[in-house]
Amino acid sequence: MKSTGIVRQVDELGRVVIPVELRRNFEISDNNSLEIYVEDDKIILKKYDPSCVFCNTADNIQTYKNKNICQSCLNELSKKGNKKEQNTKNLEFIS
Ligand SMILES: [Zn+2]
Repeated sequence: MKSTGIVRQVDELGRVVIPVELRRNFEISDNNSLEIYVEDDKIILKKYDPSCVFCNTADNIQTYKNKNICQSCLNELSKKGNKKEQNTKNLEFIS
């Protein structure tokens, strides 16, 4: 982990200002969201950038069982699910 040499005071409401140079470097603008992680004695802020676990796109992200998935991967998966169902039906019909 790299030290920036920057020390900031926490105000009475628990707020800390992220220095503008860091915000620029990480392309964090007003109203962007940050995800907060904890590692041992560290608090880590990461730009919140939800993306699909399968194809990494950030468009039309939905959450399914705590994972991010895009609409097109979701469509592909549900198509596969339907196919399986049909195959099962066919098997039942044959037997
Ligand atoms: Zn996807």
